[in-house]
Amino acid sequence: MIEYHLGIDSTDSLKLGMCTTYLGARIIEALAGMGCEFERSPDLVRLNPNIPWKTRGNGAVCIRMMHAEGGAEEIMRVAQGLTDKLSVLEDEQANPGIALVTGSVPEELKDLYIKAVHEVVEIEYAISVGELCGALMKGYKNRRGLIGALSAIGAMDMPNWTWETMAYRDPYSRTRERMVDPSSIASLSLRYPSTFFNIDGSGKPLCIPHSPCPVMFGIRGTDAVDSLKAASEVACSGMERWVLWRTNQHTDAHIETVENIDYLKELSSVRMKGGVARRPSYHPGGHLSFSLEDGRNHTIDCWAYEPTKDFRKRLRGLIEGDVVEVWGGIRAEEDGMPACINLEKVLVIELVQLMKRTNPHCPECKGPTESMGRGQSLRCKACGFRNGTLHPVLRPVERDLCTGFIDPPEVAWRHLYRPSWLEFSKEPTKTPASFWGRGPLSPITGGMISVRSERSNREQGVKKRGLNA
Ligand SMILES: [Zn+2]
Repeated sequence: MIEYHLGIDSTDSLKLGMCTTYLGARIIEALAGMGCEFERSPDLVRLNPNIPWKTRGNGAVCIRMMHAEGGAEEIMRVAQGLTDKLSVLEDEQANPGIALVTGSVPEELKDLYIKAVHEVVEIEYAISVGELCGALMKGYKNRRGLIGALSAIGAMDMPNWTWETMAYRDPYSRTRERMVDPSSIASLSLRYPSTFFNIDGSGKPLCIPHSPCPVMFGIRGTDAVDSLKAASEVACSGMERWVLWRTNQHTDAHIETVENIDYLKELSSVRMKGGVARRPSYHPGGHLSFSLEDGRNHTIDCWAYEPTKDFRKRLRGLIEGDVVEVWGGIRAEEDGMPACINLEKVLVIELVQLMKRTNPHCPECKGPTESMGRGQSLRCKACGFRNGTLHPVLRPVERDLCTGFIDPPEVAWRHLYRPSWLEFSKEPTKTPASFWGRGPLSPITGGMISVRSERSNREQGVKKRGLNA
């Protein structure tokens, strides 16, 4: 047995449905059927979120497996067969790519992943790296999917990761509604605190998509077993299969720390410290912007758009001189608009101490005092006290802002966005016995899914189909 790494990308369509992760789930099943063994979860890899031509979330997948030597052609045949059958080739945005590496993952592909998450990678460049590494490749149409397919293979050693258990429905039921009971999701975050992105502040489910894709729901979290357990408690009907993905979602993998504005590259994502040079103001459409100075007298505008909701309101209190660190994507210069930072989160490091001139109270009767005219001392308005030394004093003004992180609400999160409070587990976590299954996810006991329960799922599936027929 030797190791194989199969990457797939760009098979889906926003309008017509499908999802590369669903195709991955089908390929996993087919590969298991031919004797491939999976020792770890497959990877769901999000790439540079600022790329203009991305499909839904710019996500690619990589299935890592052990199989007999000489199995590469067979694995490619299975992957291609299902891609031909399921991908939405009629959508111009779907340009599927499949890549396969035999043996350990070459360093060149690890570098390609780093490049693809931070920069814009050209198709020809990615293909040349694939050829250099001896990868088997199949690119459809303009072959853009090969960039993601090869990069996903290279995401082998991501420094941080989270998990997402994705439940899928019949891919041909392309309705925007799912048969999921939202009330069963409401308390998941309380029972499984390592899961997140389940519901928003108003109780609306965030983990159920509204597109025609086969994803029924996805439970994200920092613990693999918790994510599976939580997903098994979602009340739903029509679950066809499920997969537990290891993913770079919510890890800030796309962020590079830069010293100053000279280092900003278009379409990359950065973290930069600076001082507020112009306080935030609102613009037509409800967007908010302020100007940031990088310590070398260069400034750049930072934007928080209307869909980030409360995020803008909380930033509004910044004033000139406040020291902040910002996270965000660089929007390229266009139509006369200079390049700017689209904010993802802000850390308020230091607040300017505002002072206000106030008249002290009368030392005799504690009454209010008033000015006698320019340059003169104060007089008590109540008792008329005046000693010639009573003058206005400077008092600190309380700011309506504190130091610390300002995060946008969940609804504005992008896939790679790391909430400031999210902690990654460095300890080896319990590894589930199975990363995928057919039929509904049965309740999980003791943190493990046994192979037997997977088989019984399959039997249930058969029984249910029998009943329906
Ligand atoms: Zn007085």
